[in-house]
Amino acid sequence: MDCLFCKIIAGEIPSAKVYENDKVYAFRDINPEAPVHVLIVPKEHISSANELTADNAAVVADVFLAAKEIAAQEGIAENGYRIVNNCGSDGGQTVGHLHFHMLGGRSLAWPPG
Ligand code: AMP
Ligand code: ZN
Repeated sequence: MDCLFCKIIAGEIPSAKVYENDKVYAFRDINPEAPVHVLIVPKEHISSANELTADNAAVVADVFLAAKEIAAQEGIAENGYRIVNNCGSDGGQTVGHLHFHMLGGRSLAWPPG
């Protein structure tokens, strides 16, 4: 399958790995928007949040549990962070494999614009 994040998960394209378990892979965004900008990705290929179903939605819990571990690892648990999913073109999604941005390390504006 011609999917950038599937290739990163498989190790065919290099990435700066931050965390991995059997369900989730996380790596640093190549174009960081905050001091900590990690992409948390389910290993299962799901194109976007629109493709979540009752059968595969457990990956969302896996992602958020991984996020908690990553926050501690990155030293941002106490000050906090933001987790963002971009879905579809209006949402700004550019890679067609479900992923969550974890942003932290500075105070973030709200709403994002
Ligand atoms: P989105 O716009 O929500 O689909 O997010 C895709 C993200 O993937 C962007 O923030 C990109 O900077 C990031 N990205 C694209 N290619 C790579 C790569 N090879 N390694 C790490 N991050 C990447
Ligand atoms: Zn994929």
